[in-house]
Amino acid sequence: MSPEVKPDFLISPEGLRIDGRRPDEMRPIELKVGVLKQADGSASIRQGKTYIIAGVYGPRELHPRHLTLNDRAYLRVEYRMATFSVPDRKRPAPSRREREISMVIANALKPALFLQEFPKSVVDIFITVIQADGGTRCAAINAASLALADAGIPMRSLIPAVAVGKADGKLLVDLGDEEDKYGQGDVPMAIIPQTEEITLLQQDGSFTREELNEAMQMGITSCKYLHELQKEALRRSYVKKTPDNGDEDDDDDGSYEDDLETDLGEAELMED
Ligand code: UDP
Repeated sequence: MSPEVKPDFLISPEGLRIDGRRPDEMRPIELKVGVLKQADGSASIRQGKTYIIAGVYGPRELHPRHLTLNDRAYLRVEYRMATFSVPDRKRPAPSRREREISMVIANALKPALFLQEFPKSVVDIFITVIQADGGTRCAAINAASLALADAGIPMRSLIPAVAVGKADGKLLVDLGDEEDKYGQGDVPMAIIPQTEEITLLQQDGSFTREELNEAMQMGITSCKYLHELQKEALRRSYVKKTPDNGDEDDDDDGSYEDDLETDLGEAELMED
């Protein structure tokens, strides 16, 4: 493979990004729910060239037992990169970065979950990055949240996440790998969209107070857009699962929305 070359510029004279996007434009996103047969819940995300699969198991008995929490389920997240997911072979042993990102993802998801309904048990989320091209922790949150809903874990809301960054002095949403590597910094964030509560906020690089405020506003707008895509992916999966609903456009009573509401209710999704 040819060595990676630093691009001459990240923002063109016309104000467009290296892949032709506008500063506030997300990469193309494809979300799928129910992609793994063995898992209790699963989802995949393609965000540009980043490709991630998340599988949820549980609530189930927790081993080792000393991790048991008497008043709620333990949320155990394992974020891993496949050896072939990055240009240099990723060593298979868990890295410090993977452990940190696992913790960050768990903390971003927890505020939306009613884990107290399953004391002394564990909900496991296994996340594998198949292909990394920037923004993997946020893409992983988008997929993991959908996988939790698919597993029927009671939640206040789905959690969308996005990274906003800076390159050539301009704020950009949803950084690609080169923007991440050669840009001036990034701010990954996740929110509960209905209340705009922030469940993840990290910062890499330096931003002025004004830039940070603007970056967060851009992030909230993008998260709300992502949230719509998440809900739509979940709806599609329930329409597919309904046995008497062979055709997505051909419901019993002609009411697409009625079917969706019943099915979303089954998933114990407590969206507003
Ligand atoms: N990356 C890589 N090798 C690694 C780890 C990361 O090439 O061992 C790339 C990958 O494309 C990743 C990007 O660097 O998406 C940024 O990584 P970071 O740690 O900032 O996390 P992310 O932005 O993926 O959440």
